[in-house]
Amino acid sequence: MTWPRVAALSKDLPVVIPIAALEQHGRHMPVFTDSMLLGEVMRRAKEHLKERVLFTPLMWLGNSHHHLDFPGTLSASPRVYLDLLIDLAENIILHGFRRIVFVNGHGGNIVPVQQALFELRQKMRARDDLLLLSTTYWTLGGKPNEIDPSIKQTQMGHACEYETSMMLRIAPHLVGDLSKVPEVPFGKGFDPAHRAWITKDRTEPGHIGDPRYASAEKGETIFRVFAADVVKFLERVIAWDGKSWEG
Ligand SMILES: [Zn+2]
Repeated sequence: MTWPRVAALSKDLPVVIPIAALEQHGRHMPVFTDSMLLGEVMRRAKEHLKERVLFTPLMWLGNSHHHLDFPGTLSASPRVYLDLLIDLAENIILHGFRRIVFVNGHGGNIVPVQQALFELRQKMRARDDLLLLSTTYWTLGGKPNEIDPSIKQTQMGHACEYETSMMLRIAPHLVGDLSKVPEVPFGKGFDPAHRAWITKDRTEPGHIGDPRYASAEKGETIFRVFAADVVKFLERVIAWDGKSWEG
């Protein structure tokens, strides 16, 4: 778009910033996995929503410092990442928009994006017209394993049955031999408390979960469930009355 076209847009149009990562995904998947998978979720969401939402390009640099022991990972440290997200949102507010939605596709971004918007809301405390939201596509409620019971995993892992299936669906040539990939159990840590970890605390090959059960068919189901969740969520943002606390 040209800048005059951006200027002419309704300022009630939700602006969606897709945020992902570039980090190791085990021995069997490429480092660009999260960005590719979120890109496909957003592509499907865009097909439904068309011009009713403004999508920025996907931000591929995420907070992945916990993966830095694995070569190829590129990461913004948590504090730098907070400032990056705050700047992006602030730029968009400067251009007059009021509804900002970060749609995330990487676990390490979840806490920073919530913190960034928490800080931005405080910084802009005189405003009463801002809707600052973040979500992560696999946390919106969809359960692919309930649609297809042959999907064994009940939650998102890392380079796991879910993500490997999704990659098999969109770029099978980028998925390595799965026959010798071991299962890496999720473990329980200190659930429901929060234990700090780096990836090598939990996994030698880099993945968490069991990619051996992945298939392109499962990947299609997973994409369908999660893209439908994102569409439903963004429809709520579009329909919001601009005032109430009830979204
Ligand atoms: Zn991933």
